[in-house]
Amino acid sequence: MTNLLAVAADTRGFLPDDEAAALRATAADAPVGTWLEIGTYCGKSTVHLGGMARDRGARLVTLDHHHGSEENQPGWEWHDPSLVDPATGRLDTLPSLRHTLAAAGLEEVVSVVVATTAQAAAWWTTPISLLFLDGNHTEATAQHDYAAFAPHLVAGGVLAVHDVFPDPADGGQAPWHVWQRALAQGGFDEVSTHGSLRVARRTG
Ligand code: MG
Repeated sequence: MTNLLAVAADTRGFLPDDEAAALRATAADAPVGTWLEIGTYCGKSTVHLGGMARDRGARLVTLDHHHGSEENQPGWEWHDPSLVDPATGRLDTLPSLRHTLAAAGLEEVVSVVVATTAQAAAWWTTPISLLFLDGNHTEATAQHDYAAFAPHLVAGGVLAVHDVFPDPADGGQAPWHVWQRALAQGGFDEVSTHGSLRVARRTG
């Protein structure tokens, strides 16, 4: 795991170390099968989940269109000019992800899907044992991603939502709204909270 932690630490992204540890613990406790990460960016959390998937005998699918969210675009707070493809002028995090997975030795564990979540939702039918929602944080997309993929969670499957901030002063509210929706709908038991990472388990 040491090498994976070093690779993850070297990877651009927005996941504090304590939340990364909590994510690994969550994956250690999830049923094996197919795990789905929504929102890959450059693969920081993908390394944490992928390493655990390899150890556990699970498989990880990571889904992203790789053109970045609103806050990653030029002129926004979280823009990284080094991620712009000079040929297109667009943000493109896919090359960074490929470097990350190669460095981590996880290319045979992680299936990379390059698509919008709406595209993938149109054909996705696989039961999911762990669903990590960490994609676009607009209300419409965050709600879409939950509604499209949470129904595929198996009994005992784990739902993890990142960037959950109950206080608007701390961050956008869409993931918080998704989290509240999941609990209000029933069928989930709360498992843990670590920083902005919330974890629940499908009861049936
Ligand atoms: Mg996040």
